[in-house]
Amino acid sequence: MHELSAGRASRILWRGIRLRCPNCGQAGILASWFALRERCPHCGLVLDRGESDYFLGAYLVNLVAVELIVTAVLFGIGYAMWPRVPWTALTWGGVVLAAVAAVACYPLTKSLWLAFDVVLRPVTEEELQLGREDTRVVRATPRVDDV
Ligand SMILES: [Zn+2]
Repeated sequence: MHELSAGRASRILWRGIRLRCPNCGQAGILASWFALRERCPHCGLVLDRGESDYFLGAYLVNLVAVELIVTAVLFGIGYAMWPRVPWTALTWGGVVLAAVAAVACYPLTKSLWLAFDVVLRPVTEEELQLGREDTRVVRATPRVDDV
């Protein structure tokens, strides 16, 4: 039984920030910039945790993060240049920044969403066993004496 402690939560969230598996902390959960692998290649954690709409929350996190980034940047530029604010450049720059930030934050928000979920709903041994059963995708975690 995992307890909900600040130390455990910060360790798991730190793994999410670094785009690592929240369960084992290993890298390699990204298949591409826009997609996670089906399973962690090291521990077998099913990364959508068996739910087809699992990452809808990640899209919300991405939207909020991008809005906060764009708002902070635009207000910062407006404040720094007041009263000669280049409104047209700021408007179009904000549009471009929103698009770039959404793409740049995409894998991070998915990884963080997964980490938040693992903090609140710890991974069970049964869940890991299901992920390990498909040996086509998951390779065994190397033991210390195998390396
Ligand atoms: Zn893992």
